[in-house]
Amino acid sequence: MTNGETSTPELREEATRIAARLRRGGFEALFAGGCVRDRLLGIEPREYDIATSATPREVKSLFPRSIGVGEAFGVMLIRRGGATFEVATFRCDGTYLDGRHPTEVRFAGAAEDARRRDFTINGLFEHPESGEVIDFVGGRSDLEARILRAIGDPAARLAEDRLRALRAVRFAARFGLAVEPETEAAILALGGRLDGVSRERFGQELRRMFAVGDRVVAAKLLERWGLDRVLLGGHRVMGRHPRLAALPASEGPMTALAAWILDRDRGSDPLAVAAEVRDLLSLSNAEAEALRSAIELEGRLRSDWPNLATPPRRRLAMDPHFEAALAVLGGGEPVAAEEIRAWISQFGPDRNPERLVRGRDLLDLGVPAGPALGGALEAVYDAQLEGGIASREAGLEFAKRWLEARSREVRATSRVNPLDSPPGG
Ligand code: ATP
Ligand code: MG
Repeated sequence: MTNGETSTPELREEATRIAARLRRGGFEALFAGGCVRDRLLGIEPREYDIATSATPREVKSLFPRSIGVGEAFGVMLIRRGGATFEVATFRCDGTYLDGRHPTEVRFAGAAEDARRRDFTINGLFEHPESGEVIDFVGGRSDLEARILRAIGDPAARLAEDRLRALRAVRFAARFGLAVEPETEAAILALGGRLDGVSRERFGQELRRMFAVGDRVVAAKLLERWGLDRVLLGGHRVMGRHPRLAALPASEGPMTALAAWILDRDRGSDPLAVAAEVRDLLSLSNAEAEALRSAIELEGRLRSDWPNLATPPRRRLAMDPHFEAALAVLGGGEPVAAEEIRAWISQFGPDRNPERLVRGRDLLDLGVPAGPALGGALEAVYDAQLEGGIASREAGLEFAKRWLEARSREVRATSRVNPLDSPPGG
């Protein structure tokens, strides 16, 4: 476990020092799980977990400032050089009653600790100094053959902790693994039900699936295993994923989610789906807003854009979610998206041009604060966006004329119907 402050080679050095200290204390200490898998795949691990024969109390005596997080589960955290390392006592998990959490753990040896882990590729250990891989579960050959296989009896392992089904999707899609048939059968046997897994975890897994790896593979697996209903609500849908497939990797998870929802659209209201997904995945306000905006804006680009004048088009392009929406549109209607992109590019890289005339300028001219001033500002900005005015002076001139025209109009209306709204504005 770690954060980004420390670079990865240093991360390994720090982790090696922690393990060496444990060994000098007379305990076994090995790198475990994801970091071993990643190194074998040639990926720099972003976190190092250490598994040890030392109990939490023994870890604490060697590292007085370590913090027990799940002390009952044998997990201690050690902070070093801006990073946090998880040091966990070898253990085997007791029975699971709720489909997610073991009711007890028992401290054990390395081999048992390997067997409580989820998939063989995640069940490897590595000797920190020699780099020797210690494999009790056949993870190395599965990794070489690119197979995702549950450790032990797949049916039992998937039933005891259903989060593993989502983890299976994530690892298969991230590393391009084939799912071993019995493991897949065990996932299918869950019947698309992930009892015991919290919505926060749904959200977390989906974010990770859509952050790195092949998103289309992830979506297809979720649909094949009937897990799409858990994440997105509604019905199981199996279809093509043109928007998700075309989405640049640089777009974030919420844009990918928008693309997936639109790919699945079978006449349902995608904005209503987005609102439901917000709760199902326990999204943050910012994420929910990104998802909603991408979907809404995509719809406007698809249907309204051709009929819009220059200023409202340029205002759409200023929306912080415009790029995301355009990227999503690109998968469904590439020609339309390309036309929009080309049209916008004629205005240069600055899509958010500074206003030539600001509220302050009009107040200085003696225009009272109020709706007329606001209207004038927007009218000047529209004219600026249209290319009609290019300097502050021209903008001020435009504003004056606009305000005059408006007051004439108001006077005219009040003559026609003197009982209507009062003159001025
Ligand atoms: P990532 O690169 O996404 O961090 P990871 O394999 O390191 O992948 P973690 O969630 O950090 O995944 O967990 C670390 C290790 O703990 C895993 O490699 C696996 O051995 C074990 N593990 C994690 N979650 C489970 C689980 N739900 N069931 C069994 N073992 C698990
Ligand atoms: Mg990890």
